[in-house]
Amino acid sequence: MIVEMRKNATPEEINGVVQKAKSLGLGTQLNVGTDKTVVALLGSNTGQLSTDIFAVLPGVENVARIMKPYKLASREFKPQDSVVSVSGIEIGSKQIVVMAGPCAVENEEQLMKAATAVKEGGACILRGGAFKPRTSPFSFQGLEKAGLELLARAREQFNIPVVTEVVDAHDVSLVSKYADILQVGSRNMQNFALLTALGKSKHPVLLKRGFSCTVAEWLTAADYLLAEGNNQVILCERGIRTFEPSTRFSLDVCSIPVIKRSSHLPLIVDPSHAAGHYALVPAIAKAAIAAGADGLLIEVHPNPKEALVDGLQSLTPSDFARLMKELRLVAKSVGRYI
Ligand code: PEP
Ligand code: MN
Repeated sequence: MIVEMRKNATPEEINGVVQKAKSLGLGTQLNVGTDKTVVALLGSNTGQLSTDIFAVLPGVENVARIMKPYKLASREFKPQDSVVSVSGIEIGSKQIVVMAGPCAVENEEQLMKAATAVKEGGACILRGGAFKPRTSPFSFQGLEKAGLELLARAREQFNIPVVTEVVDAHDVSLVSKYADILQVGSRNMQNFALLTALGKSKHPVLLKRGFSCTVAEWLTAADYLLAEGNNQVILCERGIRTFEPSTRFSLDVCSIPVIKRSSHLPLIVDPSHAAGHYALVPAIAKAAIAAGADGLLIEVHPNPKEALVDGLQSLTPSDFARLMKELRLVAKSVGRYI
């Protein structure tokens, strides 16, 4: 349930709503807009409560039920777009934010060369996995802490923020020391213990879509982060599993306008994991920007043939530089810039 306050509702009136909710055993979250404040009432039994309990309180304009399973991620709760700010880079603004780098951090030389390439190409955030969630236990699992240290070195040397994955709730504080954005991988989208720990951390989070999850399930997973008071949530569409085997996953391009209508959260697209092949990445990246994505997450490797992970879908530095030039034109055509 959401309680929309009148334009000039006083702090006492807003507090009156919060206290009433508390007395009924409900949690609250406030969206303090420039125009008016909206109070979300959170609890498992809000459906059984009459809206009149709140409608009669002073300063209340309207009380409505949110009919969707997700509440805090919804536009009903927060009509205005959210912008996540990372070292001065605004994700969800007019700028298309490109995050790029290798799938996995492999060694110092590889990471520094990748960082050089993505920086020169115009990406503003460096990606690289130190903890890798692999389908097989026999695949390279990442350099872990040593990988984080290399990322921190690249961040310092190239003056570029970094995004890296955290796979376990116990590692959240460790990874937060090294990374500017904590990535939740597709396979962990519904790892609720991890989401709750990340929600408490208040660190920016990149929440990838589970490849067998619906948009509603994805936004409900985002609610786990938001419910803990972490508003720095960025969504990332990376393709879903369908019957089509010609690409690694099927990029659900439709989810871009669907999310934009139903949620205030910024949304980026990962064309690399959807495509599974470097030759398909540019077209998918362009489609994502044209459809309204706020940014991209692209795998770039200084020497894809030698990559330990995802070499086939990684762009070379020169392919990446070419793509960035093309993306600038697409961005301009939809009133954005890179
Ligand atoms: C990744 O970004 O390196 C990754 C593992 O992606 P996903 O979780 O989308 O498969
Ligand atoms: Mn990868």
